[in-house]
Amino acid sequence: MLCRLAVCNVIKLGTIANSKISITCGACKHHAVLEVANLIFVVGEDATTHDVRQRHVCPKCNSKGNNTYKVI
Ligand SMILES: [Zn+2]
Repeated sequence: MLCRLAVCNVIKLGTIANSKISITCGACKHHAVLEVANLIFVVGEDATTHDVRQRHVCPKCNSKGNNTYKVI
């Protein structure tokens, strides 16, 4: 895991609305940076970074949930 914070799985998006989430696909290494503000628009501010990781579908290989992420 890139995130070293013990609590990183339960960060609510609403608390990091001005940040971005960097996601790297575990299968093809496709890299994407997602604006948290945009994610809140889709999944709501009560969703967590862990929810986003699990829901993220790689646009390159369609692998779902198979990725690593960090908040930037
Ligand atoms: Zn991929």
